[in-house]
Amino acid sequence: MSVLAFAEQRGGAVRQVAFETLTAGRGLADSLGVELVAVLVGPPALSSEAAGLGKYGADRVIFAGSESFEEYAPEGYTDAVAKAAGQTGAKAILFPASAQGRDLSPRVAARLGAGLATDVTQVGVEDGRIVAVRPAYGGKVLFKVGFKAEPALLSLRPRAVAAAESPRDAQVTTLELDQPRELTKVSTATGEQKERPDVAEAEIIVAGGRGVGGPEHWALLEELADALGPGTALGASRAVVDAGWRPHGEQVGQTGKVVAPPLYFAVGISGAIQHLAGMRTARCIVAVNKDAEAPIFKVADYGIVGDLFEVVPRLSEEIRKLRSQE
Ligand code: FAD
Repeated sequence: MSVLAFAEQRGGAVRQVAFETLTAGRGLADSLGVELVAVLVGPPALSSEAAGLGKYGADRVIFAGSESFEEYAPEGYTDAVAKAAGQTGAKAILFPASAQGRDLSPRVAARLGAGLATDVTQVGVEDGRIVAVRPAYGGKVLFKVGFKAEPALLSLRPRAVAAAESPRDAQVTTLELDQPRELTKVSTATGEQKERPDVAEAEIIVAGGRGVGGPEHWALLEELADALGPGTALGASRAVVDAGWRPHGEQVGQTGKVVAPPLYFAVGISGAIQHLAGMRTARCIVAVNKDAEAPIFKVADYGIVGDLFEVVPRLSEEIRKLRSQE
C-alpha cells in the first residue's frame, strides 16, 4: 500500500510544487504507515531526474516516459497516474493544485471513481482516516473533509506546505504504458519569458493595486521586489489587470491565482473579498494603504497607513540595508 505523489514537471524540469507534494505525501505516508511513491510523467530524457525525488522523501519512483509526454497530455497522464495507483495500492494520491494538477486530479478521480478534495492547505490522519483542510467562501471558512472511499485524492495549494528534504535512496521503476491515448494535444505552450518566479510559486510576492496609479509606477514595486531578492514575484489585483497595466498571469484572487507564500506585500490594494480569496492564506501579509479603513488591514499582519509613493521607496531602502548586512 502507498501514498502516491504526482511529481509535476514542465519543460523537462521537476517543479517546486512537486517537492511540496512529496513533503506532504511523506507526512501522510508516515501517519498511515505506508510507503511514499512518486509518479513522474514526462519525456524519456526526464528519467535522469527520477531518482532525485528520493531527496524529498519518496521511497520509490515510478517513471512513465513517452515522447508524447513532452507537453502535458491529459489522457496519457491520466492513464499513467491511474495505472501507478493500481500498481501501488494507493490509499491516497496527492497532486499540486497548480494549473496542471487542477486539470489532472479530477480526471484521475473520475477514472478511479474516487473522491477528490481540491486546493487543500493541510492533510493529515485522524482516527486512522485521511482528513484534509480546505478553505471555502474566499477563505472565510475552513472545511475539514474526509473520504468515504479509497483512494483519497487531494490537490494541495502551492506553498501551503514548505518543501522539506527527507532523503531516501529511491528505487526507480518504469511504468509500461500502451500507446498513450491522445484525444487532446498541447501543440504549443506560450508564456512570458520571466526573470521572476511565477506568482503561484514565489517565496515572496509584491502585489500592486489600483492605488499604484498606472503601469509607469511599477518600477517602485520592481525595486522593492529586487531588494527582497530573486525569489520574489510581482502580483496584481484584478483592477490592475483589467486596466491592462499588468498581465493576467500576475492576477491574485478569485478569478486569478490562489497563493500562499510566506510573505505577501499588498500595495495600494483595498482588500476586496475577491482579492482576499486569493491571498489570505499567505503566512505574513504586509499592507500599504493610505486609507486606514481599507479592508486589507483586517487580514494584514503588518499595516502601514501612508502614501505608497513615500512608504515603498523607504521600505526598499531599509530592506536593502538589512540584506547587505547578511
Ligand atoms: P481599489 O479597490 O480601487 O483599491 C485601491 C486602493 O489603493 C484603495 O484602498 C486606496 O485607498 C489605495 N490607494 C490609492 N492611492 C494610494 C496611495 N497613493 N498610497 C497608498 N494607497 C493608495 N479582484 C482581484 O484582485 N482578484 C480577483 O481575482 C478578482 N476577481 C473578481 C471576480 C468577480 C466575480 C468580481 C465581481 C470581482 C473580482 N475582483 C477581483 C475585483 C474586486 O472586487 C475589486 O474590484 C478589486 O480587487 C479592486 O482592486 P484594487 O484593490 O487594486 O483597487
